[in-house]
Amino acid sequence: MSEEILINVTPVETRVALVENGMLQEAYIERASRKGIVGNIYKGKVVRVLPGMEAAFVDIGLERAAFIHASDVVPSQSNGDEPVYSPKTVPDIRSLLREGQSLVVQVTKDPIGTKGARLTTQLSIPSRYLVFMPGVSHVGISQRIEDETERARLKALVGEAAVEDQDVQGGYIIRTAAEAASPEDLTGDMAYLHRLSHSIHERIARVQAPAVVYQDLPLFIRTIRDLIRPQTEKIRIDSRESYQRVMEFVEEFVTEFADKVEYYPGERPIFDLYSVEDEIQKALSRKVQLKSGGYVIIDQTEAMTTIDINTGGFVGHRNLEETIFKTNLEAARSISRQLRLRNLGGIIIIDFIDMEDPEHQRQVHRMLEKMLERDHAKTKITGVSELGLVEMTRKRTTESLGQVLCEPCPVCDGRGFLKTTETVCYEIFREILRVNRAYDAESYLVMASQSVVDRLLDEESDNVADLETFISKTIRFQVEPFYSQEQYDVVLL
Ligand SMILES: [Zn+2]
Repeated sequence: MSEEILINVTPVETRVALVENGMLQEAYIERASRKGIVGNIYKGKVVRVLPGMEAAFVDIGLERAAFIHASDVVPSQSNGDEPVYSPKTVPDIRSLLREGQSLVVQVTKDPIGTKGARLTTQLSIPSRYLVFMPGVSHVGISQRIEDETERARLKALVGEAAVEDQDVQGGYIIRTAAEAASPEDLTGDMAYLHRLSHSIHERIARVQAPAVVYQDLPLFIRTIRDLIRPQTEKIRIDSRESYQRVMEFVEEFVTEFADKVEYYPGERPIFDLYSVEDEIQKALSRKVQLKSGGYVIIDQTEAMTTIDINTGGFVGHRNLEETIFKTNLEAARSISRQLRLRNLGGIIIIDFIDMEDPEHQRQVHRMLEKMLERDHAKTKITGVSELGLVEMTRKRTTESLGQVLCEPCPVCDGRGFLKTTETVCYEIFREILRVNRAYDAESYLVMASQSVVDRLLDEESDNVADLETFISKTIRFQVEPFYSQEQYDVVLL
């Protein structure tokens, strides 16, 4: 399988495309205007302790105070071992924090809407192969490294190196990228984390709260840190300046990839390669067309994502089972790609077309499982319900592509449907009756969209006449070109 990474950098946003076998599989977007702050470390100031909620508000220099729960406050007397309490018996927040004190915190959740950012005092600093956690002493390892011998090798390597280094106290989590990494790779990473950790501590000592003391790397460098793998053939970047910064990072940490990184000076926009731009557009649509003629409908709600599979058009009786099987198989492949591309998370329910042959069912599920193995996010098929729905979860920490690029439609208020002109006409009739009972007017003027006024003057003209007779008043209409189909006003004259 060939894998290529394209990086598009402009002053307003950075976009990263992961392309496998010529097909866009993952897209990441970071905008300067709303750059996330997850992972940033701040020296903050406790502004309010809320005993009732076992929580506190911390000023970290943002517009809105951030929030920390007692269970996310690691007691300062912790000697580096496991926290001295279990999360189920949360200590009194008043014994942990007091108003006015300064506190070093890391953001675990971006501020969303009116909610402030969510914080923890358990810091974690990622490098390519490791995550460093000051103040704890254990070494953990990613579940995605499955080979037991490899797990043992990595844990031993990191564990020993950590013991030897008395300079910096902390634990580590071994990331998936560490699989097959050499001892030099790992110690190189540890040295980097220690340097970083020192500079963070220096900054903490120097600055006045509230202030940021550490920010995660920009997307184009995180891409190199987190996405690049031995099977990555090429990384192309269309900004010379960013290319140079990437090369500095590569030469310091992942020299073996140095000859894979290229500056892309092309005349053609970089995202025209492999139709990346088109594929991103398509990933915003509900419907995904399958080659076999069938299609998949993806609906993202707040609670979950539901996915429905349909055969397209007429299917002869003779080949029905075979067509359904082929459509489901193609859908399984397509869905696993769409989950990654759209970065959908949480609960996902897939409604494959009913198949009678249990062997077909088995093969479709196996296809889905096999395709999901390529996902960078952790996925889990949790079961098949009585109704034949495949239930699965996908873990992710950032917003979906749709959430990054879109907002709820103001016309339909995010429902995805508009009231019909008929419904709006009847609403207008009711509104006129309501107003007529309350006020004394000579006549009424209805301002509405073109489509609604057209209907009032045509299909509804008899009803309008009846209403005029009933209230003994005239009703006039006026088209408001900027009104949506659902908008209208009834004006007393
Ligand atoms: Zn809409």
